[in-house]
Amino acid sequence: MSIFRDVEEASPIEVFHLMKIFSEDDYPTKVNLTVGAYRTDEGKPYYIPVVKKAEKLVLESTTNHEYLPIFGLESFTKAASQLLLGDIVQRQEEGSIFGVQSLSGSGALRVGAEFLAKHLKCTTFYYSLPTWENHHLIFMNSGFNDAKTYRYWNEEKRSLDCDGFFEDLSNAPENSVIILHGCAHNPTGLDPTKDQWKQIAEIMKERKLIPFFDNAYQGFASGDVEKDAWSVRYFLSQGFEFLCSQSFAKNYGLYNERAGNLTFVLNSTDNVKAVKSQVTMIVRGMYSNPPNHGARTVSTILNNPELKEEWLDTLKIMTGRIKDMRKALRENLEQLGTIGKWNHITDQTGMFSYTGLSANHVEYLRKKYHIYMLRSGRINICGLTNNNINYVAEAITDALV
Ligand code: PLP
Repeated sequence: MSIFRDVEEASPIEVFHLMKIFSEDDYPTKVNLTVGAYRTDEGKPYYIPVVKKAEKLVLESTTNHEYLPIFGLESFTKAASQLLLGDIVQRQEEGSIFGVQSLSGSGALRVGAEFLAKHLKCTTFYYSLPTWENHHLIFMNSGFNDAKTYRYWNEEKRSLDCDGFFEDLSNAPENSVIILHGCAHNPTGLDPTKDQWKQIAEIMKERKLIPFFDNAYQGFASGDVEKDAWSVRYFLSQGFEFLCSQSFAKNYGLYNERAGNLTFVLNSTDNVKAVKSQVTMIVRGMYSNPPNHGARTVSTILNNPELKEEWLDTLKIMTGRIKDMRKALRENLEQLGTIGKWNHITDQTGMFSYTGLSANHVEYLRKKYHIYMLRSGRINICGLTNNNINYVAEAITDALV
């Protein structure tokens, strides 16, 4: 008898399951709006030219494959935290802000969450309703035991449920960790305005809540990395202590290289040594040392003004295409007289759109038109191209009749 006999099968992860059945579908005009990755107007993955250039430099300058330090490549973590928080050199030098290289954004969340559970004795975490589906799993696996949600999406108005959001934060117990999407909220594509962020900060300060920013899409909301960092920098300016995860999967197209950074912001240098020693123990016990290639590539770009400029231009091109597709989808739907209002498609930012389509509509679109999207009605705007946009708009129109 097998020792594995009592293992129960976990339910499949929706996005990967859909990708698999999409790849097996041989319908000629099938459309994949599920993936969380950028696609070109030809529907292809994008190997960013400046990334290719930087990788060549990395390979040429690599002399060995020795371990990186447990905290990773310093030139990378410093530049990454600066990209996030602006001019923080002095705080980095004194030690009250520091980064830990991580296994992309997911790994940063995982290390940060374990730190908060183990060393700040946090038990409750809040995530937006809805959120990226992995937040729950990562935090529970990290030692949290009380998962709570704050209201975020107003289904009826297809906009931010501000009152619900603020009320839920106001009722959160002290020391709760609040996961906040820095920009380009996944899955709704809706970000708070600056005034709303100010209110969020005010409530969090008063309630003594701990912000954990998840920044997986810097540059993907507005096309401008500085603008997209506004929320996190505002919290910094208000004297918060917080954690922030960064992913370089999307904005560098380095999905499989797992380049990420976890920034710690402390309000004093007194405990830095202890904090760092405990982070060291978490990383050591989980994966020991981070991988080199992705981080070195990102570092090469961030630390070279010419390459950085080229990367910033590329971000503008990618977000420009996303904005064009949002506009085209809305225009198409409005011209077709599709039932409902479609302004939310262009009001939202980033890669994703919460369309407002129901699970029944989603199933109808998949069965009849071979258009794939998440059951929640979330689509990846990058899956739209000039070739398939009319087809998708007509199919949505039909689904809503
Ligand atoms: N956070 C959010 C909101 C995301 O959407 C993602 C990826 O889809 C991540 C974090 C982490 O991604 P990765 O681990 O690939 O960097």
